[in-house]
Amino acid sequence: MTHTISGGLQVLCVASECYPLLKTGGLADVVGALPPALKTLGVNVTLFLPGYPAILKGFKGQKPLVDIDSQGHGPARLLMGTMPGGLPVIVLDAPALFDVTGNPYLDDKGLDRSDNAARFSVFSRTAAALAAGRLVADFSCQILHAHDWQAGLCCAYLKAMEASSVKSVFTVHNLAFQGLFPKSVMAITELPQSFYSREGLEYWDQVSFMKAGLVYADHVTTVSPTYALEIQSDEGGMGMGGLLRARSEHLSGILNGIDTNVWDPQTDGHIPFHYSPRARAGKARNKKALQDRFGMRAAPDVPLFCVISRLTTQKGLDVLADLADHIVLSGGQLAVLGSGDRAIEMAFRQARDRHPSEIGLKIGYDEPLAHHIQAGADAIIIPSRFEPCGLTQLYAMRYGTVPVAGRVGGLNDTIIDANPAALSKAAATGILFHPINHHTLAMALDRAFMLYRDKKIWKQMLGNAMKQSVGWALSAKAYKDLFTDVIGKTVSER
Ligand code: ADP
Repeated sequence: MTHTISGGLQVLCVASECYPLLKTGGLADVVGALPPALKTLGVNVTLFLPGYPAILKGFKGQKPLVDIDSQGHGPARLLMGTMPGGLPVIVLDAPALFDVTGNPYLDDKGLDRSDNAARFSVFSRTAAALAAGRLVADFSCQILHAHDWQAGLCCAYLKAMEASSVKSVFTVHNLAFQGLFPKSVMAITELPQSFYSREGLEYWDQVSFMKAGLVYADHVTTVSPTYALEIQSDEGGMGMGGLLRARSEHLSGILNGIDTNVWDPQTDGHIPFHYSPRARAGKARNKKALQDRFGMRAAPDVPLFCVISRLTTQKGLDVLADLADHIVLSGGQLAVLGSGDRAIEMAFRQARDRHPSEIGLKIGYDEPLAHHIQAGADAIIIPSRFEPCGLTQLYAMRYGTVPVAGRVGGLNDTIIDANPAALSKAAATGILFHPINHHTLAMALDRAFMLYRDKKIWKQMLGNAMKQSVGWALSAKAYKDLFTDVIGKTVSER
């Protein structure tokens, strides 16, 4: 295998998870889908991933590239190969850092892994050196695209490097996860001490790996235009608002897309019956199969709401858990798939036990079931208090499942609320509400019941949703234009 780079824009995409090998949330979906979409636009993207067992097991044609210095964390080397879809990938194989099972970031008790700082500084430092052409002969990149706090330090390492021309773009998928560590971690990073300042990594006497990305990247993006604005406010900025306002000229929002090959109701291998915007009969059959799968009452004409999510307060699911009875008493059903806060899990368990024929629940992570729920439900509830982009509403729309969602972040940018103006133009794709509390969510659910009962309108909303363009084409082009801008020259199409 050759790793020699040919013409075109060269990008190293650095992230801690990637669908289909390792996924804890939307980040993995984006990292799995954006690089192939960029490739179709002539951008040469190589992925850089940590050697967690699932990643080492899942990529193909592995060849050792070079041994590297793990900063005292045992033997480490780079392996090159290809992702299941064919994209080139370089993996940091460092067993002392990545040979862990379970959640990549949390231990068995749900706490941050104690060695996360070492894990992601070695990871980021290696990525920066690789992009700068200092590790592997004939391999270098013009752009390092770093995702979330786990890769935030890449931007600092590139700045600390003398004579590097590599530019960095840092994408925030969720500002709530800031990669915070005690200041003693500066020694582990081996960055110059001068980087520990208010204008650098320091954050209220701690070190923030996320802040390294926000400060040192040549450009910062986030995953929707509305979230890009929200994070510049004191409330949405989660302590970083001032910094982000100061960087506003180098901050933009590019909406996530979805992988329309993986999420396609006409071909999806996880759903019992296929259907399309024109031939939708399969959707009703999937609903019946889903009700059976959960042991719920087979009821074709009651609205079946669903949730597929981390069960957290960010997602507003504490509020929904309290309204589960309201859904049932109003004549609806609810299917919930997710895991997270123990109190929210318990509230849904109790609701299911009160109404076992009307509420289906699976606590856990189950990718095939997520697809079946999207295909079988009538509506998905996403009462997020904040939502950088959100992917589940995009999957839902493609599957003809109407989103009932908080008017925040990417939900605001992707859903057209069924208000009278939108309904009169036959343009609505869902229901939006704000702010998020019991009263507003109950009212939004009541609107959903009302619209569902009007078969003509519901059919129209469902059809509109299915026709929305939710793929990567536009956004991949926006990233390509941004990369080209950042390196300051036009790259010819190859
Ligand atoms: P976030 O990244 O904040 O968790 P997103 O909506 O951006 O939220 O992405 C969530 C992704 O994780 C979607 O692909 C969704 O289908 C998936 N997902 C969330 N919870 C589960 C679960 N319990 N089982 C299967 N897939 C899940």
